[in-house]
Amino acid sequence: MDKNPNFIKKYLKFVGSKENFVAKEAKCDVCGSYDNKVIREKISWNNDRFGILPVCCCNVCGFIFQKYKFNKRFYQLFYSEYYRKIIFNDIIPSSTFIKDQESRGKKLFQFLKKYNSKSGNMIDVGSGIGTMLKPFLKKGWNCEGNDPDFHFVNYGKYKLKLPVECLQAEDMQIKKNYYDLIIIMGSLEHCYDPNKVLSKCEKSSKKNALLVLEARGDPQSNSRNYFNHNHHRYFSKNSLELIMIKHGWMPILTTSYPITGPTRKGGIYCIGRYTGKKISAKSFRSLILSGKKESFDTVDFRFKYHDYTDSKK
Ligand SMILES: [Zn+2]
Repeated sequence: MDKNPNFIKKYLKFVGSKENFVAKEAKCDVCGSYDNKVIREKISWNNDRFGILPVCCCNVCGFIFQKYKFNKRFYQLFYSEYYRKIIFNDIIPSSTFIKDQESRGKKLFQFLKKYNSKSGNMIDVGSGIGTMLKPFLKKGWNCEGNDPDFHFVNYGKYKLKLPVECLQAEDMQIKKNYYDLIIIMGSLEHCYDPNKVLSKCEKSSKKNALLVLEARGDPQSNSRNYFNHNHHRYFSKNSLELIMIKHGWMPILTTSYPITGPTRKGGIYCIGRYTGKKISAKSFRSLILSGKKESFDTVDFRFKYHDYTDSKK
């Protein structure tokens, strides 16, 4: 029997899936709760196409995520096949994109200088083609990158000779006590299991290693366009800090300042240092309950504001 609601069937047809993947209700990636409230039902499936794929807000911590989740293989297929074709309609990166990635890497390198005085081992999780690594490579960093986007990784690896591998971040190898710097620039929103990814990063980090997280953050336009099907979750400054703390990092800077330059409008960043020790589940929960959370109304206001101002244009 097909357990999927009708909108999921429509969605699978839209992405061109030949298999009938079953969608299940997801739990909050930050606090683990299933207690949530739908914040928007209809979202963007593509630039000019909208459809139902509910996004909800956690009633415990205020984190926003897609209410339904497919299995890991669906996302593997999604990013290796459907994603490029339906979203970008291309499988080769444009020269503008490549240049932008490199320039973002340069700006990030400059920004991080004050936190990391010497070069070491780094990884870019969700690196795409991997050009953000170029400025670090030039300065003597030992770099690696990974991404599930087969076409982009192959371009980076074989055309540009960059040290990138095609894999889902959940499957990356743990290198104990190895990295001095881990960057995840807008990929935690797309991966299947951000906790598994961060847990692997945590096990691979040296004490005091830096973690840089970038997320889409602040909405720039109405919610119908902000929420789209390839973002499985949406971080705020508060939830970026929470997920870092959960995995043993101490946030030292959380900002909307464009640390990778002006090309990603609305980006937010959180930089943290690895404490060497994971917080207990009990202490993490107490932290949230003591007030490090956002209410549905606070979160909804950010979207309502843009929906209102957009409707007056
Ligand atoms: Zn939560």
